Amino acid sequence: MKKQHIIIAFFAVGFLFLLCGCNRPKGLVKNMDEFNQAVQAARPGDIITLANGVWTNAELVFTGKGTAEKPITLTVQEKGKVTLEGQSFLQMAGEHVIVEGLVFKNGYTPVSEVIAFRKSKEELCNNCRVTECVVDNYNNPERFESDYWVGMYGKNNRFDHNYLVGKRNVGVTLAVRLDTEASRENNHRIDHNYFGDRPILGSNRGETIRIGTSHYSLTNSNTIVEYNYFDRCNGEHEIISNKSCRNTFRYNTFFECQGTLTMRHGNETLVESNYFFGNRKPNTGGIRIINEKQKVINNYCEGLTGYRFRGALVIMNGVPNSPINRYFQVTDSEASNNAFIDCDYIQLCAGSDAERSAVPVNTVVRNNLFYNEKKADLFTVYDDISGISFQGNVLSPNLAPISKTGFTQAKLAFSRDPNGILLPGDNSVKAGITEVKPHATPENTGVRWYPRNDQEVRFQTGKTIAVAPGTNTLFEAVKNSGSGDILELAEGDYLLTKAIDVYHPITVRAKAGKPTIRYEKNSLFNIENGGALALDNLKIDGAECPDYSGNAVIRTSRYSMNRNYKLFIENCDFTGLDVNHSFNVLRIYKNTFADSVVLRHSTFSNISGAILQLDAETDDIGIYSAENVVIDNCQFADIGGTALHLHRGGNDESTFGPMLQLNNSRFQNVGGDKRNKAAASVSLHGVQVARITGCDFTDCQPLKLHLVVGDPITKIKESRFNNTAKVVTQDGSYKDADLNFN
Ligand code: CA
Repeated sequence: MKKQHIIIAFFAVGFLFLLCGCNRPKGLVKNMDEFNQAVQAARPGDIITLANGVWTNAELVFTGKGTAEKPITLTVQEKGKVTLEGQSFLQMAGEHVIVEGLVFKNGYTPVSEVIAFRKSKEELCNNCRVTECVVDNYNNPERFESDYWVGMYGKNNRFDHNYLVGKRNVGVTLAVRLDTEASRENNHRIDHNYFGDRPILGSNRGETIRIGTSHYSLTNSNTIVEYNYFDRCNGEHEIISNKSCRNTFRYNTFFECQGTLTMRHGNETLVESNYFFGNRKPNTGGIRIINEKQKVINNYCEGLTGYRFRGALVIMNGVPNSPINRYFQVTDSEASNNAFIDCDYIQLCAGSDAERSAVPVNTVVRNNLFYNEKKADLFTVYDDISGISFQGNVLSPNLAPISKTGFTQAKLAFSRDPNGILLPGDNSVKAGITEVKPHATPENTGVRWYPRNDQEVRFQTGKTIAVAPGTNTLFEAVKNSGSGDILELAEGDYLLTKAIDVYHPITVRAKAGKPTIRYEKNSLFNIENGGALALDNLKIDGAECPDYSGNAVIRTSRYSMNRNYKLFIENCDFTGLDVNHSFNVLRIYKNTFADSVVLRHSTFSNISGAILQLDAETDDIGIYSAENVVIDNCQFADIGGTALHLHRGGNDESTFGPMLQLNNSRFQNVGGDKRNKAAASVSLHGVQVARITGCDFTDCQPLKLHLVVGDPITKIKESRFNNTAKVVTQDGSYKDADLNFN
């Protein structure tokens, strides 16, 4: 090799070395001392790199002054190989600092946020960015201990390409705070994030994004929320709660979310080209308009079934001279060129009541496409709509116009475009969305290097384990089971001398015949956090239970559960639960929440307590114990307590449940025990939807209804009351018409 070539090769190697850093990450830090020293010493352009591994209880306070050209960056050695666990959190302050690649899991924040764009009330972050971070089920074990996963403060910050999944305790997932002057007119950008599953909280304060609070709601925030994917964000009514002025929501996708994008407070919001896919899942909603100068244009809504405040489009009534925390009148607002296809409810003047009497004014609903050939009563008009101007809207032929002008009917043939959007084949239709804009998808949001686990509780996804009759055979089998396993019981007798703690979904079912289970502790199954239970084709006999009051067959954890559970009981017989008083089939505790409790084709007899006593939340602040309760084809005989006591107290309107379906069931001598404080066979308090069909009540305490909050749907039909007071409501009377007895 010539000397000249050697020199060139030498420089080339040196240049490559500079370019790639060649396996020596810049500013690699291996512990908190090294991290803190690196932060202290950081100059513009520096990179601090967390070494691979688990960082436990890491209190990362990352402050620095970078520049636009030379930011200070906190990153990780390898994405996905650095996790922050235990009581870890991140606080950022300064200028032009960037954080990327952090994963928070297996723990929860001991402070009020996991990721905060501030160090203290005075030390905020400006021109900063958090990108490609993950927060995965990083939840306080106390369901009602509040925190945020992300708190945005300061100005000009960006939160992008992050993956947040499984927020289960109370508190907004991402909050933009406007609590000091330095955080207003903030121009934040929240984009390309994947907001994964957020289960039903059963209470207010389960929003996925909130921008502002009622207190600062007349302040401009100027936040842009775009290209975010919302996957089953079901926490409460408000997927997004907009509570400040001049924010923009565009190009976001809402997949099967039970709630709406809500303009709760603040004015001049732009809601443009968002895509809502309900897939006809219950309570899926669209857009809710409150306040002034709101612009809702070019949004696509399909298969949304939500009712009332979860309608596909909701225009609310306001409160005259509203206090800042109530409902301002809708005025100078617009909903144009939106498509509502196969949606069930468009709600106008929603919330109209003695307090919310200010109807929408100077508002236009123009060129929208309302198409649902299966539902004649798409629109609900709760009050005077003369303040809304309707122009150029197109309806499916079955829908009646709700005003003399502004609606035409057309039969349209739709086809799906490559993005999965239904578009009318007829180009002459000017209503609906004018253009399909690029928007969020699972692929263009979040991070690529972290797995997306399905977080839903599912039964029968695991292996089948054979269980033989005998003492504690079932206990051992459950102990050795995994999530979703099926425990299949041979015919015969089973005795449990120990209670079975259930920490994951399991199914216990008969392989043949109807195996009989007896037990000696004061409960048979304890559903602990993460647990869920399905019983099928079993006989449960209380003959061996201890002679104490307050036994149960199944109980929830005595401690707070941040994971919602499911309980399915099918083809089972429960009998002889009467060794002492107050013996329940299900006993629940406060701070637990059932996604669903289902009883089908089962019999219950000689039971001293209640079957389903779902009344543990007694604070009357809108918190309740179960979302969906289904009782179908069951028989209840000689039951001391209630067959069902379902309670949601207070007048909070942030949630949709509880919901009840009670069908084709027989009740004989139910509720008569003197300890049954409800003095009812079935007691429903604050239940939002109750459908009772084909039930027989004989020699029972009455069916009691306490109809409060919102607009409960109560339909009782084809039911017979023999030697039983029919229905008792809170004011001591009922009217068939009020209760929709049909
Ligand atoms: Ca809320």
